[in-house]
Amino acid sequence: MVAGRLVSPFEVPERAQRMADGLAAIGLTVEEPADFGMAPIERVHADHYTSFLREAYQEFRAITGAGSEVLPNIHPYVSAGPDLACRERPRAEGVVARAGWYVGDMACAIGEGTWRAVYASAQAAIAAAEAVVAGEDEAMALCRPPGHHAYQDRASGFCFLNNAAVAAEVLRKRFKRVAILDFDTHHGDGTQAIFYRRSDVFFGSTHTDPRRYYPYFSGYGDETGFGEGDKFNLNLPLAEGADDEAFIDANQKLIVAALACEAEAIVLSVGWDAHAEDPLSKLAVTSDAFRRLGRIYGEVPLPTVIVQEGGYSLAAIESVAPRFVTEFLDERKP
Ligand SMILES: [Zn+2]
Repeated sequence: MVAGRLVSPFEVPERAQRMADGLAAIGLTVEEPADFGMAPIERVHADHYTSFLREAYQEFRAITGAGSEVLPNIHPYVSAGPDLACRERPRAEGVVARAGWYVGDMACAIGEGTWRAVYASAQAAIAAAEAVVAGEDEAMALCRPPGHHAYQDRASGFCFLNNAAVAAEVLRKRFKRVAILDFDTHHGDGTQAIFYRRSDVFFGSTHTDPRRYYPYFSGYGDETGFGEGDKFNLNLPLAEGADDEAFIDANQKLIVAALACEAEAIVLSVGWDAHAEDPLSKLAVTSDAFRRLGRIYGEVPLPTVIVQEGGYSLAAIESVAPRFVTEFLDERKP
């Protein structure tokens, strides 16, 4: 839903196909990930939330006159009272109430194939992280749907399971500290929240200034982590209209911060939606910036899991994803 209108979704299956085609054209092969089960997903997400994602569609369709997809039409008001504020899950049991509790916005319709897709998307991230745990220097997870707006118990912004967070937890088996760096043009609010009180996973993000841009309620520069996680969160919002130089400069600052906190491995949340041709972009970033970023991230001397987030111009992502990966791999050749 955009400004009160139902519109055709931006997050469509063709995105993954276009990127797979573009990556195949530079000689990469797409492998189907193995199934690592629910355990790595539930290191990040609450079991009552994943149960909801799994069951919601069937339960919803049993309602007389229900629409074709689960969408929330009621939202809890946490400030209503202490009982609601400290509650981990809703007391109400029906799917309408649970959709209100667990689904943050109108960009997360749950259809018949949603669970299958989000589960497979998470498995791709797990497989890439497992490959790096096993000794690969880099692996890319072509995740769809994306994940960085998903919280431990909430879907929003096309995201249901937080693939980057799940990958980071897998990497923690081998690496003492992991940095998740995110250059999708939207702030990775879900990732930030998941690790906000932790120092073993640093989160750094550059994105469009959220004062007038999704996800609006987080992504500000003064959000630096809390408690144990203090100083392990870095947000570098970009003004609308920011160009290649500003975008690249912010990414370089993220890398410096990740190295300064002694991260031993990187999860890179890559979104191509900063691109000026992207239907959601407010920036003036060109294809060349992503080529340069490939080189810059390729130079970082740490094992890296690349996790696909957003990017909604089909033409742009088909050319930009392979450009980034080509430069990244070229830089890492021994
Ligand atoms: Zn995005």
